[in-house]
Amino acid sequence: MAPSYKAVVDKARQAFRDGRTRDIEFRRQQLNQLRKMYVENEKTFLEALKSDLRKPHLEAVIFETDFMLKDLDYILSRLDDWVKTKEVPSVVPEDKSYIYHDPYGVVLVMGAWNYPAQLTLIPAAGAIACGNAVVMKPSEVSPATAKVIETLVPKYLDNDCYPVVCGGIPETTELLKERFDYIFYTGSTGVGKIVRDAANKYLTPTTLELGGKSPCYVDSTADMDIAVRRILWGKMFNLGQTCIAPDFVLCNKEVQDTFVQKAKEVLKEWYGDNPAQSPDLCRIVAERHVDRLAGYLNDGKVVVGGKVDKNDKWIEPTILTDVSADSKIMQEEIFGPILPILNVKSHKDVINFVNDREKPLSMYLFSNNDAEVEDILRNVSCGGVTVNDTLHHAASKSSNLRNAQ
Ligand code: NAD
Repeated sequence: MAPSYKAVVDKARQAFRDGRTRDIEFRRQQLNQLRKMYVENEKTFLEALKSDLRKPHLEAVIFETDFMLKDLDYILSRLDDWVKTKEVPSVVPEDKSYIYHDPYGVVLVMGAWNYPAQLTLIPAAGAIACGNAVVMKPSEVSPATAKVIETLVPKYLDNDCYPVVCGGIPETTELLKERFDYIFYTGSTGVGKIVRDAANKYLTPTTLELGGKSPCYVDSTADMDIAVRRILWGKMFNLGQTCIAPDFVLCNKEVQDTFVQKAKEVLKEWYGDNPAQSPDLCRIVAERHVDRLAGYLNDGKVVVGGKVDKNDKWIEPTILTDVSADSKIMQEEIFGPILPILNVKSHKDVINFVNDREKPLSMYLFSNNDAEVEDILRNVSCGGVTVNDTLHHAASKSSNLRNAQ
């Protein structure tokens, strides 16, 4: 049976009530310790990421270790401004009104396995900067990285204020019985509902960073070389296991033929005749996910790739055509290197296709027809969009700029 985490949460709450985590110099010192942890242990993180997902060095640096470091530097550079009490106009002219930035209390951060270091540590750093105590729960599906977080965090950070809890479903179920003041969860929609149910008991404010199906649209005005390269880059990063990865392509039949031909050339140029030997492609995180993905190969005609090696947790970069909108692959987030192509006749079909389904996390439009791009943007609601590229909007500084204003 999983242990109770009452003592862990009580200790963190006591530390919060003592006022320790609110103190700005304490926050800064702890954030600097976190920074030191990243710098002194980059190699350890990279080895763990290799062990969990066989992440290529460059991907692991760009989207994990360097990403965490840059985020922390940004937090440290903005901290004084963020915590400043701000005077605002009062209704009664003689009064003075202020906005105080108050921490929530004890925050639970639950990370997912696909970017297993940063998805736990970046939200934790934000919560520390805001003056909270933080309980970190890395994903058990990426055990090597979870172990690194569990081992290193107590060596660098205050042990009462910032505990790490490891474990699978039984442990997380037990942990969620505790009362938190904020929950920051990253993961699938299914577990998001479990987290939301647990939070409901105390009306705990919750952030749910979930997944979804992110469509690409390629029209006949698009630069096909750019479209193919950028869609495949976004899809093959982390072998498709990215929340905002291009999930499927919508295009007309002629565009599809050119896309498939070009994709064959590009994949060969990047990964050679045997992509399984390429050092630039990582692996599927677990055998059960290989089985899930292999099942999708029957949902269309395999025109590129299609090889599966369960022992190596490998699915080859694959393109499917003749895919029905009702097939299983079109009902679930793919989260792997399989790219289905479905045919549409016009950009209006794209608007209807997307609006008939759950709102996408991201959308990627490849077109040089500005009026039609604008029409799609005005008529479709989704988390974020990049035009003529993929993934990039997620790294844009827009949210930082908003904070700075
Ligand atoms: P996962 O299996 O690692 O689960 C996420 C967390 O939930 C883990 O900490 C895990 O221990 C916990 N958990 C799992 N099952 C549970 C249960 N039954 N009860 C309580 N806790 C449980 O990750 P996953 O869910 O496979 O993650 C992949 C999903 O995450 C994808 O859908 C992806 O799109 C999404 N994601 C979203 C973002 C974002 O920023 N929006 C980022 C990365 C991943």
